[in-house]
Amino acid sequence: MIKKFHIFANGDETSAQIVQEVRSKMVAAGAEFSEDEKKADLIFCIGGDGALLRLLRQYDFPEAPIVGINTGHLGFFQEITVDGIDELIRMLAHGDYHIQENSALSAEICTESETKQITAINEIVIRGEGERLMHLDMSIGKNYISRFSGDGILICTPAGSTAYNYSLGGVIVDPEVDMLQITPIAPVNNSAYRSFTSGIIVPTNKTIEILPAKAEDRFVVVIEDGRIVARDDVKKVTVGVAGRKAKIVRFSSYNFWSKVKDKIL
Ligand code: NAP
Repeated sequence: MIKKFHIFANGDETSAQIVQEVRSKMVAAGAEFSEDEKKADLIFCIGGDGALLRLLRQYDFPEAPIVGINTGHLGFFQEITVDGIDELIRMLAHGDYHIQENSALSAEICTESETKQITAINEIVIRGEGERLMHLDMSIGKNYISRFSGDGILICTPAGSTAYNYSLGGVIVDPEVDMLQITPIAPVNNSAYRSFTSGIIVPTNKTIEILPAKAEDRFVVVIEDGRIVARDDVKKVTVGVAGRKAKIVRFSSYNFWSKVKDKIL
């Protein structure tokens, strides 16, 4: 039984109406609204996938599970659409759901002036900012693998495999598989440069280290779920699986591959 709930929404008008509807229906069902997400047993996320990414960032991967109501454009993460709210509340009341735990990525970024830690649910991208070709040295689990020349390197979770990774030709991964995927962005292969061209799959107990090959390659940007978190003077980026997970409510009707068929393919 959900005793306290919190609501997070994107800023659009439809979402604002859904916030009111969910809040009044949950209160009528006997639950209490909490302004503080840390005190809630459940967080409603109203919007699209972008809203979920912002929720995870703003609330720092909350302990409470999240249920997504799609008012966004794609809504791949989101569990239901706005016409399913009554059914959603009924299933919540009956405990008729399970929690899907999605692994996140953590990255340590060392720049000339600081070291910072970030967490991403979709991907971390290390890429050039301007028109120049980037040269990056990559190691997996402390083993030097190769120098990469191209636009950049993306590292994603299974949950992020359907986002930017898929547009780059990366593979779609069932969230039940625990792994990290490394995907090259516009790799260069000619008599001057050799770069890996396929995706690389690594187990979750390995870390991936990316170092700009030369001083001029330090002008890279590091992007966490679509948001630039570091630029210039990047000396090293180390990516691995984060301790925290995104906990998402799924009903018995949830099927990852049906979602892929309906929304991605
Ligand atoms: P945005 O640029 O406004 O939207 C990106 C699109 O990706 C939206 O349609 C969003 O769905 C969808 N999306 C987000 N996570 C997804 C996932 N795990 N699987 C399938 N689709 C997903 O930015 P945003 O909404 O803040 O999302 C940031 C994400 O955009 C990044 O994490 C990156 O993966 C993706 N991106 C993709 C490309 C590309 O494909 N060429 C380029 C840059 C960034 P909603 O419409 O429901 O919000």
